[in-house]
Amino acid sequence: MEAQRRNRLILVPCPFQGHITPMLQLGTVLQSKGFVITVAHTKFNSPNPSYYPDFKFLEMPDGLSDLNVSSKNLVSVLSGFNINCKIPLQEALTQMVKTNGHREKIGCIIYDEYMYFSNAVANHLQIPSIILSTSSAANMLTYQAIPRFLNDGYIPLKETMLMDPVPELQPLRFKDLPFSNATDSDGLLQLISEAHKTRTSSAIIWNTAECLEQSSLAQLGQGYQIPFFPIGPMHKMVPPSCCSLLEEDYKCISWLDEQMDSSVIYVSLGSIASMDEKGLVEMAWGLANSKQPFLWVVRIDSSNGRDGIKILPESFEKTVGERGYIVNWAPQKEVLAHRAVGGFWSHCGWNSTIESVSEGVPMICQSYFGDQKVNARFLSQVWGVGIQWESDLERGEVGIVIRRLMVNEEGKVIRHRAIELKEKIEISIKQGGSSSNSLIDLINHILLS
Ligand code: UDP
Repeated sequence: MEAQRRNRLILVPCPFQGHITPMLQLGTVLQSKGFVITVAHTKFNSPNPSYYPDFKFLEMPDGLSDLNVSSKNLVSVLSGFNINCKIPLQEALTQMVKTNGHREKIGCIIYDEYMYFSNAVANHLQIPSIILSTSSAANMLTYQAIPRFLNDGYIPLKETMLMDPVPELQPLRFKDLPFSNATDSDGLLQLISEAHKTRTSSAIIWNTAECLEQSSLAQLGQGYQIPFFPIGPMHKMVPPSCCSLLEEDYKCISWLDEQMDSSVIYVSLGSIASMDEKGLVEMAWGLANSKQPFLWVVRIDSSNGRDGIKILPESFEKTVGERGYIVNWAPQKEVLAHRAVGGFWSHCGWNSTIESVSEGVPMICQSYFGDQKVNARFLSQVWGVGIQWESDLERGEVGIVIRRLMVNEEGKVIRHRAIELKEKIEISIKQGGSSSNSLIDLINHILLS
């Protein structure tokens, strides 16, 4: 179904790679259905407009541009965006309505759940708003359960209960809850509770598919009075290279072309998580010990802000030679879709999770913080497409677990399940599939609001 009128949608992404990517993918999908797109973004981590010649970009001063953002200060950074961006967005949209109101209407503000100031702006301007959730429905269930945990005295979490199963949220253990190891858990709980009030938003869009999360979506739906639109995985509906904040090193694709089918283990911890120096060195020797070809993303800031590649011992490079390829940032979606990639050592961010399951690539799940722990649990215990890694990195063990996934019988069973899941996801996004139908429903919802 195509939108009939010039209907502008204002998208407000949260400025981190794992959040910007799905929002821009959503914009691309909705633009292809006839909507006109404006992306209202912070100065910090601003997207590259040249990738989107047909979008309008609106920069909001955020007051935070010089911050060195890490997992340790995410809560204060996010709170800052919500304080600093509200008035600039309100003023810019007021001006937009004054100037263009006769030619187009602002149909809706679609905002990342963590950019919740957008809902107040939408109310002020009497524009409908919709939330985009960039994590899993299972993760949202843990947020929904916070009042219950507080009421039952589970929070603050006690060391002794971390391995216990969470009532009504199996297979999660208390240690898997997104706030269990937060540096500022009080701040995080407050942010989560702010972000997950639906306020007056009219719907929630999910970058997930029913075949992955039907039960979590159904459970969640009981607590909400608004429709859900699970339309994912969105990266399968748009061209791959559109959303990266960092330059992707495409030379690794030529290296992959020379490797045997399903032989390469791809290692990446996404855009924020990082290993300490010792972990990085253990990982390096573990990869060497595994005897498998590997493609490893070692970000420039990968070890406490230092260039991880410089930390790696020279003897490591000599030992692995052509068998290993290291980049600062990879074109991950193309990498995971490459026939040579047979496994993914991942931090289990939600984007990495759905990108991997969409390609049938089994995983080693080494989560660090936030929703990664929930995703790791679902990958390993519910969908059965990953092996969970929960120990400190030690070279001998790293080599062994890589061979368990890439070579051993156990890995073959996991790979088989991963391929079955990939096939289910492919059906969801085809015409008549659940995600494809949800997208049609979403478009109708926007047009009728
Ligand atoms: N990514 C990439 N190249 C890399 C590493 C990651 O393009 O070398 C992309 C990846 O495809 C994903 C995003 O960065 O879309 C990371 O998002 P995710 O939710 O997995 O993790 P986060 O970075 O938010 O922790």
